[in-house]
Amino acid sequence: MRARIVGMTNATDLKSAGSPREVWERLREGNERFAAGNAEAPHRDAATREALTSGQQPAVCVVGCSDSRVPVELLFDAGFGDIFVVRTAGGCVDAAVAASVEYAVAGLGVSLLVFLSHEKCGAVGAAAGAFESAEIPTGLTREFVEKIAPSVIEAKARGEQVEQAHARNGAELLASRVPAVAAALGDGTLGVVGARYRLSDGRVETTYENFGG
Ligand SMILES: [Zn+2]
Repeated sequence: MRARIVGMTNATDLKSAGSPREVWERLREGNERFAAGNAEAPHRDAATREALTSGQQPAVCVVGCSDSRVPVELLFDAGFGDIFVVRTAGGCVDAAVAASVEYAVAGLGVSLLVFLSHEKCGAVGAAAGAFESAEIPTGLTREFVEKIAPSVIEAKARGEQVEQAHARNGAELLASRVPAVAAALGDGTLGVVGARYRLSDGRVETTYENFGG
């Protein structure tokens, strides 16, 4: 049974939005409230926290960057129990990230999966820099280059910013490589979106949408 959420208002209730497309619309509305300085900070009260001790049923899974300037719940004006968040530097996807996404989709039943890149991403910058200098870093930093290389190549070919290409590539990768995501997309129970967060004005721009069906 899902815990009853106390103090919930309709405008900020992601789970009641219905279809994956509607959940994305609600999330974008939350980002607009945040960017415009009208955040309602929903679901951050003690009553909501306590009501959720019996379980979670988030509507959204976000895979994004660990960057301290990209706090997911804040920039979507959400709170406790709303978003299942998986963050690594650059949003790089490894087996643990893929398993976390699979759990969010197949175990928790989220109806929207968002891959979120952002402006001025250090990991993306490191990957792009390696291509520019033709010097591949040694050590673990090489992981970023290996994971983000497809986005760097596509951005060059299309004349777009690497973070924009990375948002699309990250979403496509999750949609095609994680079996539970592909299955839910086929069933029409999940939408997958790629988006880039702009540090400059606080807004999230869409670069990829797949509502399957
Ligand atoms: Zn980053």
